[in-house]
Amino acid sequence: MTNNTDFGFQKVAEDEKAQRVAGVFDSVAARYDLMNDLMSAGLHRLWKRFTVEQSGLRPGQKVLDVAGGTADLAIQFARRVDNTGTVVLTDINASMLNRGRNRMLDAGIIAPAVQCDAERLPFAANYFDCVSVAFGLRNMTHKDRALAEMQRVLRPGGRLLVLEFSRIWQPLAPAYDAYSFKILPALGKLIAGDSDSYRYLAESIRMHPDQETLKSMMEQAGLERVEYFNLSAGVVALHRGYKL
Ligand code: SAM
Repeated sequence: MTNNTDFGFQKVAEDEKAQRVAGVFDSVAARYDLMNDLMSAGLHRLWKRFTVEQSGLRPGQKVLDVAGGTADLAIQFARRVDNTGTVVLTDINASMLNRGRNRMLDAGIIAPAVQCDAERLPFAANYFDCVSVAFGLRNMTHKDRALAEMQRVLRPGGRLLVLEFSRIWQPLAPAYDAYSFKILPALGKLIAGDSDSYRYLAESIRMHPDQETLKSMMEQAGLERVEYFNLSAGVVALHRGYKL
């Protein structure tokens, strides 16, 4: 019997979710970067910069960006690790990954771009100094498997960074709900010609584990010293954990 999982507020068969998520990102890929700037009023750039600062990366180190999409993080990581280090960009979706690879090339960075599922990473264990996943975990069918895979490929002493939408400070929730369920889909329709994908975005954020739950999930996956930083009143949280 197939188990069900969430796709936004809908329940779908587990083996259907990846296809539905692929449909979302095929549809939004062309306007993805513009929409990110518009939806967050540019804040996603600050959230990502903070993530890179918390990575503690040094020249020569190896980084894996999981669900890296259009490569915002990978480009900044590449600058940190210098040309003596390595950044690997991965994503399950070819439309997003192509854009990411092209943006890296345009930025003068030559880095491997690998199409793969975060739940089955094609890399050796104990290899990377840092693994990141930004706004990707929410879309994964088995988040526990994906986190375990990210832990597996980290070297001992390496860190996992999870940047993801989270639970906003309660007094701001009504205004945030109004924005997410009214303005966001309308913006998606206007700019990307697709309101459903942006409705999915709002719904998937509500279904995603809150700060403490994600922290426990990372601990379950074998990460230690897990802590999180709330950004923009908890609209987003950065979780960081170590493989010791
Ligand atoms: N990390 C980028 C950023 O912060 O701008 C892209 C985030 S985008 C919202 C989510 C990405 O997760 C999409 O590119 C999507 O294809 C990818 N994704 C979804 N499920 C995935 C999976 N199981 N394995 C790898 N990537 C996945």
